Amino acid sequence: MREDEGWMTSEMSRRGFLAAATALPVAASAMQSVASPKKGALGKYVGELVPGRYDAHTHVYPGEPKPEKLAKSFAEAGLVGGVVFSRCPNAWLHPGKEAISPGKAMDDVIAWCSASPSLYPFYWIDPGADNAVELVDMAVEKGIYGFKVIRGAEKPVDPNALKAYRRMAEHGKPITFHTGILWDGRDSSDYFRPANWEGLLDAPHLRFALAHVSWPWCDECVAVYGKMLNAITMRGLEVPEMFIDTTPGTPKLFRRDALAKVFTIGYDVAAHVMFGTDCTVNTYNVGWCRDWQKTDDAHLAEFGFGADVLDDYYRRGLRRFLFGGDNTKRKVPTPDGTDGNRNRSGNEKAGS
Ligand SMILES: [Zn+2]
Repeated sequence: MREDEGWMTSEMSRRGFLAAATALPVAASAMQSVASPKKGALGKYVGELVPGRYDAHTHVYPGEPKPEKLAKSFAEAGLVGGVVFSRCPNAWLHPGKEAISPGKAMDDVIAWCSASPSLYPFYWIDPGADNAVELVDMAVEKGIYGFKVIRGAEKPVDPNALKAYRRMAEHGKPITFHTGILWDGRDSSDYFRPANWEGLLDAPHLRFALAHVSWPWCDECVAVYGKMLNAITMRGLEVPEMFIDTTPGTPKLFRRDALAKVFTIGYDVAAHVMFGTDCTVNTYNVGWCRDWQKTDDAHLAEFGFGADVLDDYYRRGLRRFLFGGDNTKRKVPTPDGTDGNRNRSGNEKAGS
């Protein structure tokens, strides 16, 4: 069975998905009548995501957690769930203010996500911290589902940070990186260009996302995606798995161009692209979220994509990011256009 078949297709027709995608509050209540995915840490759905749309990129800012209000805002935005990043641990982003302690940041984001089994807490970590590996373990122990990083004063991958990334991979937990220009008032752009992430080739099995399609370096983002996928031909199936998070970033003027590059380049991007908004959970911007969905839906329709690609974009990409998938079935690009996965040298077996 293909990785993207199974629970969803058995429970719901394509037509059913379209209805869910356009009338989500109704679809969410209709979900009560079908089998639910099994639950894992913190009572979240694991292995499968209920049909509907997800926001893979939201942030906690300082303030009292209001989980019920957040779940309501998601429903109003036509979403059934998503990912919430904990508060920023980087002192340089908030000069003069005391950073929240790791344990408090984890508890805080877990509280924000507590009103829904489809809201997944991520811990925003400093991978260069002396105790980064311990923090990864601590987060997983608490039930955190993934990680987030903005490293703007040094390159994203160095021997120290690699230890933390490898630990995440050992736990099977994904990580979202800020990439692309950052309005931080500092000389930082060189650190956010996608080619800097090639160093993750030394973090076997890591699932990582480059956020914002790395705008304005979308070409480079897609190029790195192709390179990472092609690396299977040389390094085998243990290579890290890259995802593209399309959170704006992109000004409207560049949105069509960015999505065209990602979705029509011809690489196997199925279930490896995710929709996100960058909204704060404290005051989730329902109008902004709906507006970007409308924009992206129109562009994807213009490219000739239907319900299948929409489901990849709004749900299955996040599912694979959170829970992993089967690398043996992916089409691996090669210079001569053959499928590099099929042509892998015989010294390693499928599923290694
Ligand atoms: Zn963000």
